[in-house]
Amino acid sequence: MQGLMMDYQLTMDRILEHGNRQHPRKEISTMLPNGSMHRYTYADMYRRVKRLSKALVKLGIEPGDRVATFAWNNYQHLELYYAIPGAGAVCHTLNIRLFPEQLSYIVDHAEDQIVFIDATLLPLYERIAHQITCVKHYVLLNAPPGTETKLRNVLYYEDLIADSDEDFEWRSTDENMAMGLCYTSGTTGNPKGALYSHRSMFLHTMGENSSSALGIRESDVVLPVVPQFHAMAWGLPYACVMSGAGMVMPGPHLKPEPLADMIANERVTIAAGVPSIWTALYHELKQNPRDISSMRATVVGGSAMPRALIVAYEQELNIPVVHAWGMTELSPLGTVSLLLGQHQDLSDDEKWDVKAKQGYAVPGVEMRIVDLDNKELPWDGQQMGELQVRGPWVIRQYFKRDITDDYMTEDGWFRTGDVSTIDENGIMTITDRTKDLVKSGGEWISSVELENELMAHPQVMEAAVIAVPDEKWSERPLAAVVPTPDGHNLTEADLKAFLSTRVAKFWIPETILFVEEIPKTSVGKFSKQTLRKMYAAGQLQ
Ligand code: AMP
Repeated sequence: MQGLMMDYQLTMDRILEHGNRQHPRKEISTMLPNGSMHRYTYADMYRRVKRLSKALVKLGIEPGDRVATFAWNNYQHLELYYAIPGAGAVCHTLNIRLFPEQLSYIVDHAEDQIVFIDATLLPLYERIAHQITCVKHYVLLNAPPGTETKLRNVLYYEDLIADSDEDFEWRSTDENMAMGLCYTSGTTGNPKGALYSHRSMFLHTMGENSSSALGIRESDVVLPVVPQFHAMAWGLPYACVMSGAGMVMPGPHLKPEPLADMIANERVTIAAGVPSIWTALYHELKQNPRDISSMRATVVGGSAMPRALIVAYEQELNIPVVHAWGMTELSPLGTVSLLLGQHQDLSDDEKWDVKAKQGYAVPGVEMRIVDLDNKELPWDGQQMGELQVRGPWVIRQYFKRDITDDYMTEDGWFRTGDVSTIDENGIMTITDRTKDLVKSGGEWISSVELENELMAHPQVMEAAVIAVPDEKWSERPLAAVVPTPDGHNLTEADLKAFLSTRVAKFWIPETILFVEEIPKTSVGKFSKQTLRKMYAAGQLQ
């Protein structure tokens, strides 16, 4: 027997309609390229999205067509997050920091029909334009009059909106239609696309907004520092509109000074980004304090949040940290490290130990760990295995690729490629990416944990650990360390002595190098692949 409930499609336009009806006066602010603030309301956004959706249909966009964006986090990009799916098409967010070859591969693989480009990013895109044949129109955002470009078939964003009207019925009629496409920042092989549906993103939004996860509220003002091209800005543009929260979009201003100003001036309550953003912001706030008393959470994910940085934020800046784990393939939210009831009586130190873990599964996501034979391992906090997940917002296949057992198990679980433990309370700890573990003399060394311990030293700003070949032990860890501004006297011996009280002796790297900067990936994570290449080329001395 079937239930007798309404046939109500879970589509993105429902989220937008809800935001517009319930919270029409809510504000969205954007820091424009010139540093001034653009401000408007949900109601303004709604009207412009309708016009834009209609304009897309007039340009010949058919259901399922891919329409790409090449833009910063701003109000126009937010409009595109709704207008493209509302026209029945797929919003494909291009990562502006990719190498030209990767970018042209992705545009071509996705068969993008229109690309919306922020005029400030034109030179980056123009480098690949000659290799692209699928794109029928380019639309420029924020283009000052007289902007010159080598691109052909160019339209202007504001003209599209001005020449359209709001008399438009959403074309997103079925929740199983695709609505978004993100390619992973994959470090090996060609990038792979995760194709989200309206249903998967709607459910992800509800999961993210539940009190077991981020629990964004109407009274929040959210600053997504995470780029809109990194796993749909972690779903925040949908989560905020669903809950009626105000939003602050940083545009191209991702340096610590403007971010600190935005937090203070806009009374931001929640900001979200990768750990390297928080490291930089912490040092800025220590040097030039601002009134950041409005903040009720920093949401950190994308890489492990070093425990020392959690302590710095909670103890020194009085900002609670919400550490989350996710993947592009999970839309992206998988687990959240919030304290449970049983943790309330712990000491601060013990609470930080818990928060540094990746946490429990968000309702909607199931997880398990398995051994090399795909046999499930117990949740004892000790045994490490490959982390696998399943759920309504987990991919079952990459876009235009065959299903292979590299990433899907026969019994329908997605293989994350992360290695983790899960304890008896269901709290998961990532120990490494499979390919980043260091295998020394037959024993595993967790590069993530070593990095965490190094970054616990007060004069270490960033630390990354890679495995390097070793004749005797097969592999040994090598650490690259960036000292803090007051850490120029720090020595290798100091760090080894520091580590000796914190990790097993065989974990201590023979070589700890001081570098000016840890190379970062296109989404701001430590790029161990680049470090490994630099080491192989003799550039790490
Ligand atoms: P991406 O799809 O680019 O966001 O990359 C996903 C990968 O980032 C995961 O498979 C993890 O290896 C890593 N990752 C994400 N969040 C965390 C976290 N909180 N701690 C450790 N690793 C993380």
